[in-house]
Amino acid sequence: MMRPMARGLPVESVVPVQADAAPARDLDPADWSAFRRLAHAALDEVITHIETIRDRPVWQQTPPVSRDRFTQPLPRQPRSFADVLDDVRSHVVPYATGNAHPLFMGWVHGAGTPVGMIAEMIAAGLNMNCGGRDHIGLVVEQQVVQWMAEAFDYSEGASGLFLTGSSMANILAVIIAKIEATGADTRRQGLLKSDRQLVAYTSAEAHGCIAQAMELSGIGSAHLRRVCVDASGSMDIARLRAAIAADRAAGLEPFLVVATAGTVNTGAIDRLALISEVAAQEGLWFHVDGAIGALAAFSPTLRPLLAGIERSHSVALDFHKWGHVPYDAGFLLVRDGASHKRAFANYEAYLQRADRGLAAGDTWPCDLGPDLSRGFRALKTWMTIETLGTDRIGDAVLSNCELARYLAEKVQSSPLLELKATVKLNIVCFGIRGARDGTINREIVMDLQEAGRAVPSWTTIAGQCVIRCAIVNHRTTRADIDHLVDCVTAMAKVRLQAPQSA
Ligand SMILES: *Cc1c(COP(=O)(O)O)cnc(C)c1O
Repeated sequence: MMRPMARGLPVESVVPVQADAAPARDLDPADWSAFRRLAHAALDEVITHIETIRDRPVWQQTPPVSRDRFTQPLPRQPRSFADVLDDVRSHVVPYATGNAHPLFMGWVHGAGTPVGMIAEMIAAGLNMNCGGRDHIGLVVEQQVVQWMAEAFDYSEGASGLFLTGSSMANILAVIIAKIEATGADTRRQGLLKSDRQLVAYTSAEAHGCIAQAMELSGIGSAHLRRVCVDASGSMDIARLRAAIAADRAAGLEPFLVVATAGTVNTGAIDRLALISEVAAQEGLWFHVDGAIGALAAFSPTLRPLLAGIERSHSVALDFHKWGHVPYDAGFLLVRDGASHKRAFANYEAYLQRADRGLAAGDTWPCDLGPDLSRGFRALKTWMTIETLGTDRIGDAVLSNCELARYLAEKVQSSPLLELKATVKLNIVCFGIRGARDGTINREIVMDLQEAGRAVPSWTTIAGQCVIRCAIVNHRTTRADIDHLVDCVTAMAKVRLQAPQSA
């Protein structure tokens, strides 16, 4: 339908003009006081849920009736908010992952905090888009960037960015290192016509997202060397040097080394200071995957383990792991803000900067990564750190590491159990003493999970399946460790008595 305008262009739109005196068409509640009552009740319930988390099973499988609730057709008609909340109460809340519970030790998952939860609610209420423009969301994010620069002794000029997690932060770091090595023109040209073959180095124990970062960056995971680790699980420095030399001799171009501060399997920390020396001598970008371990920097006792991190070019870390900020809150810190921006800045017309007003500003977060629209992850991180302080967060991290040692000692003094890897940080790998293959360890893990009594996980070390406890939860106590060992022992006895089935 075409309607003439007073002057200029015609209006072409399929949307009819609204009649006068039409009923309200917004999406807000019709009755704000009724909404407020339900909302307050929901808030109270979720606070009680956290307060009484110990009284529930760590995890329970979602029953068919609850799964079925989420296979319904797209609803066209509205439903009362009270009814929808009832569904959440019955079909969602009881079947959560379990990581808020102190006996969840399966994976490196943060536990969250009540403060973080409220922050998330406030951020959702404000519903800010933190991709850019001149508003307080970017200012709060910059505060966290400044804090992290301080925590890792980065100098002025560092830049940082919230992302979903360290997987994304590691991808960005590989891309920044690639652009640094090849020049900004590769953003346009790609690498296909390049006669230079970039090669990166990480340890055999590095997280799988590093190989994926190489794939997504267009360099290819075949050009990632996975350097062997020594007995402590850290990258073997002599082998790193040898691998670089061999690649150079073959005409390839080493450009990046990714160290891990806290490996997923055992919590091992690479020797960051030595790796920084190799990187400096060889002219490589030195990135640290600190998803698990970087926030150990908040503990003065643990900080020396990270010595050398201050000489890195970039660090990936997760506030949603040891920072206990609610998911998701990954973060990338880059020493040279200019190289960070060179890899991602975009100059589309709709992103142009004004010298005043809401479109003012120099660097926006959308200049530092692929996300344009993005939420206010900085608020929950700022509120968590501001309320708790890094001393208290660091002490919770230290407590986890002490509990890991306590668990390791209990395992070593048990006639039934044995330790399967050195305990470096907060991860304990153990199993049934003398078990020829690891099948029984895996079965015990699944038994415990299904019983809802504790959630360890299993991993493979030296070809054997072992029980893995990653102690990350700030609520976990010695009594919980005692309970875990009692449960494992009881389950093991049952299995050892019963005839072994596959
Ligand atoms: C968890 C983890 C990652 C991935 O981080 P996400 O936040 O899950 O994306 C990367 N590296 C290590 C060592 C990790 O533990």
